[in-house]
Amino acid sequence: MRIGFIGLGNMGGPMAANLAAAGHDVRGHDTAAPMPDGVNAADSAADAAMQADVVITMLPDGAVLRAVADQVLPAMTPGAVLLDCSTVDVDSARAVAAQAADREVHALDAPVSGGVVGATAGTLTFMVGGRAEALVTVQPLLDVMGGRTVHCGPAGNGQAAKICNNMILGATMAVTCEAFALADKLGLDRQAMYDVASTSSGQSWSLTTYCPAPGIGPQSPADNDYKPGFAAELMVKDMRLAMQAADAVDAATPVGAEALRQYAEFVETEDGRGRDFSALLLRSSRDRRH
Ligand code: NAD
Repeated sequence: MRIGFIGLGNMGGPMAANLAAAGHDVRGHDTAAPMPDGVNAADSAADAAMQADVVITMLPDGAVLRAVADQVLPAMTPGAVLLDCSTVDVDSARAVAAQAADREVHALDAPVSGGVVGATAGTLTFMVGGRAEALVTVQPLLDVMGGRTVHCGPAGNGQAAKICNNMILGATMAVTCEAFALADKLGLDRQAMYDVASTSSGQSWSLTTYCPAPGIGPQSPADNDYKPGFAAELMVKDMRLAMQAADAVDAATPVGAEALRQYAEFVETEDGRGRDFSALLLRSSRDRRH
């Protein structure tokens, strides 16, 4: 297929390289990042989109996505697919889908989980919102970049699934960190706490796959001085998107809001920036003051 790929950063770079390596004709554009192996440089976003069967975007946020959509949609062929893999707010995803429909372009929101490791290995999970016919068109590309695709419903529902998932992740990690800090103060050995909770009702992905305590459970960023992994500031971004969406539909998310406050203070006023989000354990372990 002929593909335009816009946003070739930490995630988009390896995703585009995998598509090129699979034999697709990929034309890329980024305002800063270099062209990945096998990707031909376009002069602009519109140039990358011209005559493409599929235009893929992997951009920082909804404002950038809307600006790029303004540039690429007029250049796209009717019937082509705009596949946005960025994590953005639900409103931006739905606005771009409506704008695309006006030009007879199909739009899919398809945020991912799996991080840079999954992008490089081609094992991402895609959560897709939009029409099933457009998903059929892009499925061969998703199969190159990822291992699993879940169709979540109409436009915006991929983003909705992503922020719900990450709100669960953020809150379970925060309370897992608190449990380790509480165990310390109660004189309970961390390994003993892990051995009980990992096989009891306190079990979660945050505990058993991504344990925030160094030396406990499987290898995780905690064992690598909390190098990300998934940076704490990205967790703040995703949890802010969840709170914004909750406000928009009047959903009560007090636990999510408190978890966000913990990560935001860790990143903005403490030493959390540049660390993995599981480093929140360092904050939880300090004496009570929050
Ligand atoms: P990144 O900052 O490394 O890449 C974004 C790229 O977009 C940059 O190279 C930037 O130069 C480019 N860009 C910005 N404005 C542009 C414009 N107007 N035109 C063209 N290019 C432009 O970020 P990333 O880590 O690759 O993340 C991309 C998206 O994926 C984000 O929405 C992020 O939330 C999401 N995501 C990231 C991870 C992760 O672990 N990094 C995991 C899942 C989802």
